[in-house]
Amino acid sequence: MQLHLSSWPEVEAYLTRSKAILIPIGSTEQHGPTGLLGTDALCAEIIARRAGDAADILVGPTFNVGQAQHHMGFPGTMTLRPSTMIAAMTDWANSLRRHGFERLYWLNGHGGNSGTISAAVTAIYHEATFAGAPALRCLNRNWWELPGVAELIRNLFPAGEGSHATPSEISITQYAFPDAVKRADLSPRLAPGGPVYDADDFKRRFPDGRIGSDPSLANPEAGEKLVNAAASALVTEFKTFAAG
Ligand SMILES: [Zn+2]
Repeated sequence: MQLHLSSWPEVEAYLTRSKAILIPIGSTEQHGPTGLLGTDALCAEIIARRAGDAADILVGPTFNVGQAQHHMGFPGTMTLRPSTMIAAMTDWANSLRRHGFERLYWLNGHGGNSGTISAAVTAIYHEATFAGAPALRCLNRNWWELPGVAELIRNLFPAGEGSHATPSEISITQYAFPDAVKRADLSPRLAPGGPVYDADDFKRRFPDGRIGSDPSLANPEAGEKLVNAAASALVTEFKTFAAG
């Protein structure tokens, strides 16, 4: 069940069954020569919607621009200041709390968002305390950290996974959007690794945008396996969180 495809009476009825909502959160940022700008938001959204369809879970709109300052050397990347993201997530949470939601599960698709999401959750808790409002509980999970998913990634891509523009995330978008599969000559085939600082330094260290990865390994079959495994683990974790 998706919020943006529901009517208000349907959401009102859902609230009599559950006070928990699942919100995909990602980024709009370069993912190398073959990865989609929307990869991080799309992966979280695809997995969340699969879980939502399987288990009567309400899936909110995707928070699809995040912390991508270090990718700003590449056209198409969009980013929010941390303070903007914290303010926006707090307003999303306040809106949902006003309608009676008590559990917000943020399914994240971009590692660079993690610190800011944690700060936003702290801000959301402050809002409730200062307003004397009913408590709201948040859970923040990266999709690749759901139980069983990291092992599956290691099995599918024992070499070349890297840490940005990875074959696993690109496989998921290839599975969900076969008409948007991109091809390019990758040189070197395995991208360099190293630390991440700001946008200019990133572009010098990682000239085509990849970090340590070989996304030519990506394939839709692997994407299907990853979506199935992640969505099934997500249903279990969401249900436990919603009931807690
Ligand atoms: Zn990514």
